[in-house]
This record gives sequence, C-alpha cells and structure tokens, in this order.
Amino acid sequence: MDLILDACYPRRCVLCRDLDCWPPRWSGGPRVTGLRRFDRPHLCPACCGRLRRPVAPRHSGGELLAGLPLFGGARTGADLVRVLAELKYRGVRALAWPLADLVADALAAAAAAGIEYDALVAVPLHRSRRRERGFNHAALLARLAARQTAVPYLARLVYRRRPTAQQARLGAADPDRLTNVAGAFAAVDVWQAVQPRLAIVDDLITSGATLGAVAAALQEAGWRVVLGVAAGLAPPPEPPPNPSLDTPSVRF
Ligand SMILES: [Zn+2]
Repeated sequence: MDLILDACYPRRCVLCRDLDCWPPRWSGGPRVTGLRRFDRPHLCPACCGRLRRPVAPRHSGGELLAGLPLFGGARTGADLVRVLAELKYRGVRALAWPLADLVADALAAAAAAGIEYDALVAVPLHRSRRRERGFNHAALLARLAARQTAVPYLARLVYRRRPTAQQARLGAADPDRLTNVAGAFAAVDVWQAVQPRLAIVDDLITSGATLGAVAAALQEAGWRVVLGVAAGLAPPPEPPPNPSLDTPSVRF
C-alpha cells in the first residue's frame, strides 16, 4: 500500500524539494478527522528542524482580552508562512503533522511555565470558507496536538457568525485587524458543572486580534480561557510612530 501511495504522491519536501524518508508514525498516520488515508507528510526532517526558531511568549493586548498568555512553537518566518500556505490554500493536509508538532511544543512550553489547561479548542472558520477549503486547518492542528499531548480537543464550542477578511492581508499593526474580527465569533453556553480551562489553537498569532475575539466570545458564553497557542508567534506589533517624537525639542 505504501509503495502505491509513494508512487502516486511522492514525498517531496515543500521547502527544499528533496525526497527523504519519514518517521514511521507519519506513514499513513492514525485516523484523524480531516486527514485522509493518502495525506502524507511533505516536509523533510531537516526543514522541520529549521522551522523551530524559538520564540519568547507574550501576552495579548488590552483591546479584547488583556493579559492572555500567548505561546508559539516557532517564531513566524517566511518558511513557516510558506508551509502554512501549502496547507491552507493548496490543500496539502499532511503538513498538519509537522505544524501540529509546533503547536505541541507551544503547549509544552506553556505547561513548563506553570499554565494549566484541560482542553483545546480551535479558531473556527466560517462555514462558507470551510466548505470552499474542505477543512479547518486550525482544527486539524488542534486535533493532532491533542493526540500528542493527551489533552482533549473540544469541537463545535465556538463558531464564526460572519465571514471576515483574511487577517494576513492586513498589516500586523493595522487597527482594522480588530474591527475585522470584533463580534465575529460566538460560543455555545457552558453545559458542564466543572468548567475546563481552555487553550485556543490557531495557525499563526500576529496581532492576537483573532485569538482575542475568540477568547472574548468563549468567556461571554461562560467558558474559562487561560491560554492561546499557535504554530507560529510573531513578536508584538510595533506601535505606530509617535508624531511628537518628530518635533524638535530644541528650537534655534
Ligand atoms: Zn526539506
């Protein structure tokens, strides 16, 4: 079976284009919702290693949910964005495996920092985009990271009420990032007596606006959100330049 799959879907790395061998756990892989039998990894171990650029955790800003700890498995860079684009826009679903490794790294770093969480939820796609793409990439990452960390993944807790423009098309410090996603999410009401502490999973955290909007929707419905994690985390966006700094303080 593997020989046939290899012939039909050669395991060529999307970054360096090398053909390589793969760890056995990726050969076919266990059944995960959203992954198909023929989805294979397309990233070689060397490139996987290079993606892992350590990044310091940060906290979300004050606009939507101040102080939520944000952890990433790697610093967002061109290679990581390229791998994510292959997953999201070209449907190379097997890349969810190495990207989920980065999410698992972020969860481990948060646990090592003393943050306790009981379950994972994913940033949802609007149903129209999900239908168009065929899967929700953040949910794939969350499901696979849940397997690796033995933390439950909770599906259908939060949903997107309206389609939004892609955040990636807006600059990291663009104020439209906040208005684009404000009020775009809603969550089902808490039904459990004991509330799990939730970690929200996304692919990339840039300004933190999307994650903050999802966290706000969950909290409004009564859920406890303690953490945001992603495969890639960008450093905090630069504040807009202060025009007063351009004003000379000494006049002649
Ligand atoms: Zn490679």
